[in-house]
Amino acid sequence: MPASITSAKPGQSIKRLFKHQQNTSRLWRQEGPQARLKRLIKLQKWIREHRKDIQDAIYKDFKKPAEEVDLSEVYVVLSELKHAISNLRKWSRPRKVEAPLALVGSQSLIQYEPKGVCLIIAPWNFPFNLSVAPLVSALAAGNTVILKPSELTPNCSQLVENMVLELFEPSEVAVFQGDKHIAQQLLRLPFDHIFFTGSPAVGKIVMKAAAQHLTSVTLELGGKSPVIVDSTADLADTAEKIAWGKFINCGQTCIAPDYLLVDKEVEEELIDELRLAIDRLFDGEGLGIENSTDYARIINREHFDRINMLLEDALDQGAILETGGLSDHTDHYLAPTLISRVPSNSLIMEKEIFGPVLPVLTYEHLEEAISTINERPKPLALYLFSRSQVHKNAVLTQTSSGSVAINDCVVQFMNPYLPFGGTNHSGFGKSHGFRGFQAFSNEKGIVKQKVGLTSVKPVYPPYTNLVRSAIDLLLKYF
Ligand code: NAD
Repeated sequence: MPASITSAKPGQSIKRLFKHQQNTSRLWRQEGPQARLKRLIKLQKWIREHRKDIQDAIYKDFKKPAEEVDLSEVYVVLSELKHAISNLRKWSRPRKVEAPLALVGSQSLIQYEPKGVCLIIAPWNFPFNLSVAPLVSALAAGNTVILKPSELTPNCSQLVENMVLELFEPSEVAVFQGDKHIAQQLLRLPFDHIFFTGSPAVGKIVMKAAAQHLTSVTLELGGKSPVIVDSTADLADTAEKIAWGKFINCGQTCIAPDYLLVDKEVEEELIDELRLAIDRLFDGEGLGIENSTDYARIINREHFDRINMLLEDALDQGAILETGGLSDHTDHYLAPTLISRVPSNSLIMEKEIFGPVLPVLTYEHLEEAISTINERPKPLALYLFSRSQVHKNAVLTQTSSGSVAINDCVVQFMNPYLPFGGTNHSGFGKSHGFRGFQAFSNEKGIVKQKVGLTSVKPVYPPYTNLVRSAIDLLLKYF
């Protein structure tokens, strides 16, 4: 098959390629873990050898610093690969499970089998990580994959396409570049699983399309992830961690702190510490953050305008600019920005910010902070900075979110042993490590019975008095 078939050629070529992938996936279903390991190892080797190319591509897309690319794109994917490679044999092994007495004499097993042909639709904000990490899980589980990266990061998307062309036949893994029109053509196909990362609005479109074929979906969506800071927190430590989690990737991180809920008593001190932490982290040379190579840019003019509009609306409604606010549209630069006294009905408190603006709201009693969170859709992540065990328990038991970090933020993403994902409005289905493998697998229940034997024979019809007594016994004791 010609390599060019992976390029965005609408219509027939997509359908043809899909058929080829279906044929391959039927062959792959019969393979053991060895063949899957080989695919993961060659992917691992490619990434290790092309670290600089990945850095360059993403720098061209939005001036993301090379070190940030290493940490949040290359390291995360390599760690996912390492974890999958070390555990794949264990994950793929049929697992014996217990059985009730009613099935005595038989054996029950769980076997993970590949779902088949999978579609991955990726966003732009971690353009390598969020395209390739799901690919790792899909390949570990034995699937063929069609991947549509984001049109907003053309350099990284081209790199991902080149990588795939070099490592795989299009009938195994293929990349289709393009915007929503290509995504919508792909969504018409009867995929065996769709893994979508993006906004809740597009998540709904994906789910609707998946419903036409009853295709299973993992939806990794966004939303407003709150941070609670109580009066027992170590404020210098808290500020540094929040400034890092919020302003890396120029605030364009799905699990970045979206807004702060701070005990009124410590608001001023926290804001002072945040100002210091922002300068220390992003203006190390003291030349102004706009001249620092340690701070990325907003992805494009549309998002630049959107974030500025949210900021202006909040300021118009009475919010106070505590630091930042400077911007340069020619470079899509917006300084790390803190605003306080933000009216709860301003637009910035309604929409996911997804940029370097951090609203600070205050509370007097923790219950107020908890109610503010519970009045909104369930967030993807929730953060609490506190030394109080009572507050930790209260927040963990009285709120619902995809993940929680206590006294840190964003780092929960880095642990492949933890499920990653949202709940309701922030998405459903989990990824990373075994959960990623599971998302791309059909968990098949198997019963192996002995020939000529079955424990349920005594309850077969005809329903004589003896059978009825056996049923009574079953209901009473088993
Ligand atoms: P998006 O929803 O606009 O786009 C995501 C993907 O969907 C892109 O590939 C795009 O081409 C495609 N798409 C866009 N419109 C479509 C349509 N009408 N039909 C079909 N496909 C369409 O999201 P984005 O702007 O790329 O990313 C930002 C969003 O993603 C934020 O909400 C953020 O919180 C979320 N996000 C979530 C996670 C997570 O792991 N939960 C990670 C990163 C980003």
